[in-house]
Amino acid sequence: MESDKSNGECHDIVNWFEDVAENAGAVQTRTLRRILELNSGAEYLKKWFGGMAIEELDESALESLYTSLVPLASHADLEPCIQRIANGDKSPLLTQQPITTLSLSSGTTEGRQKYVPFTHHSSNTTLQIFRLAAAYRSRVYPIREGGRILEFIYSSKQFKTKGGLTAGTATTHYFASEEFKIKQEKTKSFTCSPEEVISSGDYKQSTYCHLLLGLFFSDQVEFVTSTFAYSIVQAFRSFEELWKEICNDIRQGTLSPKITLPKMRKSVLDIITPNPCLASRIEDCCEELKDLDWFGLVPKLWPNVKYVYSIMTGSMQPYLKKLRHYALNLPLVSADYGSTEGWIGVNVDPSSPPENVTFAVVPTFSYFEFIPLHRQRQEYCLNSATDDYLEDEPVPLSQVKVGQEYEIVLTTFTGLYRYRLGDVVEVADFYKGTPKLNFICRRKLILTVNIDKNTEKDLQFVVERGSQILSKARGELVDFTSHADIEKQPGHYIIYWEIKGEVEERVLSECCREMDASFVDQGYIVSRRTNSVGPLELCILERGTFKKILEYYIGNGAAMSQFKTPRCTNNQVLLRILNVCTIKRFHSTAYG
Ligand code: AMP
Repeated sequence: MESDKSNGECHDIVNWFEDVAENAGAVQTRTLRRILELNSGAEYLKKWFGGMAIEELDESALESLYTSLVPLASHADLEPCIQRIANGDKSPLLTQQPITTLSLSSGTTEGRQKYVPFTHHSSNTTLQIFRLAAAYRSRVYPIREGGRILEFIYSSKQFKTKGGLTAGTATTHYFASEEFKIKQEKTKSFTCSPEEVISSGDYKQSTYCHLLLGLFFSDQVEFVTSTFAYSIVQAFRSFEELWKEICNDIRQGTLSPKITLPKMRKSVLDIITPNPCLASRIEDCCEELKDLDWFGLVPKLWPNVKYVYSIMTGSMQPYLKKLRHYALNLPLVSADYGSTEGWIGVNVDPSSPPENVTFAVVPTFSYFEFIPLHRQRQEYCLNSATDDYLEDEPVPLSQVKVGQEYEIVLTTFTGLYRYRLGDVVEVADFYKGTPKLNFICRRKLILTVNIDKNTEKDLQFVVERGSQILSKARGELVDFTSHADIEKQPGHYIIYWEIKGEVEERVLSECCREMDASFVDQGYIVSRRTNSVGPLELCILERGTFKKILEYYIGNGAAMSQFKTPRCTNNQVLLRILNVCTIKRFHSTAYG
């Protein structure tokens, strides 16, 4: 009966999505109209619309009028308004209804955390996309009704702005929202961990308890998940160190003294009971797994798990290899595409490998525009000191073309108008009438010294090439970052690697040379030939350096659930950590 009901719910939400996807163009026009009607009194909109009565405008005229009157905006353009809101100004600045909550969008990719409005609409769309994605997943990988999920999710602390608004990361707001409670209640303790573990604010203690409870309920766990793949890899790396202590707790029904937070201790101790039989089984598995470098850890310890589910695209791609190592032959299902500013697309093909995953835009969530981007030809490229793309005028969702790259622009229910998200996507295909997007990268250049221009994706490609040599020598790349050093002339790139395993210096030197030779950006190639960019430097870091970096970010308010290792940094504190922890340096020699 329960199962029929949930099958019915899945069917309904899929039908709903297929209908809006089929009519995506018209749905977008209606979505824009609703956003503008709801917020017609907002100061920001009035500034551009003057005295025009938005609600009286004809639907077809509204779209072109809106895009001709309201300019494209970056976060910096909206910052004065957002700052006034943070300081307690309750007048309708961006939205008609006062904004009471602000989210912090990731400072880990942009270097600095930015406030963006968070409303009831934000948690509602989160709940909606989670349900939609779950419905598509359940068609391919059905899970047992009443089973559990091992979720590595973490809230960070909410705090008050100067004006008394609640601020925190979007995931934190969602975990604290009514919508999340509804999801938890409807699915009856589906997550292994209680709320006290998710919201403890101490990611190390939470990870321990997530693992302990995940193992305590191991036979019931149907899938393993986190927001970004990084958290799963991080949790299992910790497990390699913690397993004996966790087994001990399972055997005796106790909780390690490491867990000091009283509420979390109580909530976990209320759940677990001594289970010597389970503890012995897990210990036997771990003894075997240890000798296999923990290869196949997930299916071995969680025999009923059907898949691993998380965002595995973009900056998470470097963790795929390690995830596959742990997951063995279990499917890796790549989760949906969104940002603190708003959700964008859902993965409607859960069986496609993470490398090929695309996201079908949900046309009711926001009004989407797409700025066509064209990679410049080399001669133009060499003249431009800033960006690698030429832009055309933004087009609406109904006019995007397969194979074309775009930057996404959002108009949201939360008060962002023609907001440039800074992500580059490619239209891979259509699902009914809505585009399926392939995430390419953040638009921002991360490595540039001179006329050379490299994005995160370019760096990822180069590191992948270098790490293939490392893998052949049985080394493992734990994580990486980079810095464009322009202190001395000529400037040069430094790539920092934390590695696992004993690897000869000769091999690392070869990795360095290979990475230098693998940049395909013409600006870099020409600059290296003329020595206006110096030889690439590879710094090998001591073990645990990236953990220190994570802790530095968490200490500064970043949330474990949304953490993305910065792939390039100019942050002085971080550079100090990296330099202090460097144990070996290599410089690439001969070039091209
Ligand atoms: P945040 O500011 O922490 O909300 O991070 C949002 C950013 O994370 C997006 O703008 C993307 O750059 C990236 N992101 C989110 N979802 C995905 C995904 N499924 N694939 C790749 N990148 C993603």
